[in-house]
Amino acid sequence: MPTPMAPLDFPLGPTAEAAPAFYRVTKEVHFCYGHRLLNYDGKCRNLHGHNGKAVITLETRGLDALGMVIDFGDVKRVIGRWIDENLDHRMLLHRDDPVLPELRRLGEPVVTMDVNPTAENIARLIYAQGQSHGLPIVEVTLWEAENSYATYRPAAGEGG
Ligand SMILES: [Zn+2]
Repeated sequence: MPTPMAPLDFPLGPTAEAAPAFYRVTKEVHFCYGHRLLNYDGKCRNLHGHNGKAVITLETRGLDALGMVIDFGDVKRVIGRWIDENLDHRMLLHRDDPVLPELRRLGEPVVTMDVNPTAENIARLIYAQGQSHGLPIVEVTLWEAENSYATYRPAAGEGG
């Protein structure tokens, strides 16, 4: 007679739940964008595009009743959608970029920024959107290429 398998049970237990802890979740959003940098002496001074990836990290102290920081679907619905509607397949340009009037005249979809549209500043832009939507966002990394990425995170205690 085979021995019955012992039931598997891995209780975290009240101690684990009560222990103060931070939990992080991360969501990736892929999108394409064009840009160029003003006053820059390098390849990125010419109009060109990237297959970008925003890596969005959210953090809470403890979990909600479902055992989550936030539903991944909610992150996608809020930030993923914002990126899709506002950044994907658009030209991100400094508002002083002399090519802007011409692109506008041609009806090209452009996004203007008051800073150079670097990976750092695009990461900050996405962070600000997440924060304005009330998400517990702590960090955004923007992958500009498969070997180059920039991360924005507000300094601790200074808010965002
Ligand atoms: Zn570039």
